[in-house]
Amino acid sequence: MRTPVTLDLVVNNLRLRGRDAPVSLGIAEGRIAAIESEIVCDAPVMDACGRLGLPGFVDTHVHLDKACLLGRCGHAHGDLKAAIAAVSELKRGFTEEDVYARGASCLERAIGHGTTRMRTHVEVDPRAGLRSFRALKQLKRDYAWALDLQLCVFPQEGLTNDPGCEDLLVEALDDGADLLGGCPYTDTDPVAQIDRLFALAARYDVDLDLHLDFDIEASGGHLDEICRRTEATKRGGRVAIGHVTKLSAMTREAFESAAVRLASAGVAVTALPATDLYLMGRARFADRPRGVTAVHELAGRGVACSVATNNVENPFTPFGDLSLMRMANLYANVAQVGPDGFSTCLDLVTDGAARLMRLDDYGLRVGAAGDLVVMDAESEEAAFSSIAQPVWGLKRGRRSFDRPAAVLLRP
Ligand SMILES: [Zn+2]
Repeated sequence: MRTPVTLDLVVNNLRLRGRDAPVSLGIAEGRIAAIESEIVCDAPVMDACGRLGLPGFVDTHVHLDKACLLGRCGHAHGDLKAAIAAVSELKRGFTEEDVYARGASCLERAIGHGTTRMRTHVEVDPRAGLRSFRALKQLKRDYAWALDLQLCVFPQEGLTNDPGCEDLLVEALDDGADLLGGCPYTDTDPVAQIDRLFALAARYDVDLDLHLDFDIEASGGHLDEICRRTEATKRGGRVAIGHVTKLSAMTREAFESAAVRLASAGVAVTALPATDLYLMGRARFADRPRGVTAVHELAGRGVACSVATNNVENPFTPFGDLSLMRMANLYANVAQVGPDGFSTCLDLVTDGAARLMRLDDYGLRVGAAGDLVVMDAESEEAAFSSIAQPVWGLKRGRRSFDRPAAVLLRP
C-alpha cells in the first residue's frame, strides 16, 4: 500500500503479537505512522526477517542508586533487615559520580536487553541527601536516546521516624521527581507514613508506588489501608504497590477477595521475583515458601500488574542482568505457568507494566512512539519459552542498539 505520509523508516517482515502474517511498520517523526501488510515508499528499509517485534520492555521497579554494590559489602546479609542496614551504611559514602557510574552500567545492560521504559526508585533521606537523586536525574537526560526513565523518590528507612527526610522528599519533588514512593513497613508508624505519602501525592499531583508488606504472614498488612485511601482521594489508577508478598501466603478465598478489592480501587501490583525468592522464607529448611505473589492471577482479575527487576548485585539480590524476558520467565517457572499463560506473563513486562506506569504512547500501533525491539524468535510463545534475546531496537524511530546473535564456528 502507498501511504500518504512521508515515512523516515520502514521495517519489513515483522511479526506482531496476535497477528499471523508479517507486517510492514512505517515510522515518521519518531512515531509509528503506518502498519500495513506491505508498505511501498522511498524511505530506508530494515528487514526484521520474520521475527517478533515488541514495543520494548517496561521495567516498573529498579533501584539504580544501590545497584552493583557486591564488591563493597560482601553478601552475607541473611535477611531483609540486614540488607537495608548494609546499604544504609554504604549510602552515606555515595557520591554523585559513583551513583551515576553504577546506574549507567545497569541502564546499558537494560537497553541491550530491550528495555525502553523504566521506573527507578531512589532513596532520598538524611544519609543519601539528594546526591543519588541528582545522579539519576543526569542519567535520565543522558540516556533519553534509548530509554525513558521515571524517578520515584522514596524514604527507604522510614519517614515519620527519620527527621529531615520529608523536607528532602519535598525538595526532590520540587526539583523534578516524577513520582513518590514509600516503605511503610520500615516506619515506626506505617499508617502515619501512608498518610503523609497520600498528602504529598495530592499536593504535587504525582502517582504513588509503594513497597508494601514484605513478609509471608498472611494476616496484618496495609493492603486495605492503601485501597481505602486510593478510593477516598480518587487516585484509582495512580497507585502501585510492590512485593505485597503477604498475598503469596493467603488462602485462595482471601486472595480472591484481595484481588476484587485491588481491581475496584485501581491499585496496581508489582512482583519482584528475584528479590522475593532470595529473601523470603529463609527461616525454613524444608518446603521453603516461594514468597512471590501470583500477579498473573491478579492480572486475570483486572488488576494492573507487572513483574520487575528491583535489585541488581547488592545485598537484597546478588544477581541481575536487567533482562525482563529472563525475569518474566523466572516468574513463570516459580508461578508454575505453562504455555497457556505465556502471553499473560509477557504482558507483565510489556503492556501490563505500561498500564501500571500510565504510558499512553506505548505499543505497536499507529500513533504510538516509534519504540521497537526485534526478538530472536518468530512468535511470543517461542520468545518466552526460550528467553529469546533481542536482536536490535529502535527508540523513537532511531536505531538504539544492536545485539548480534552468537555465531557457531563449525570445524
Ligand atoms: Zn524495591
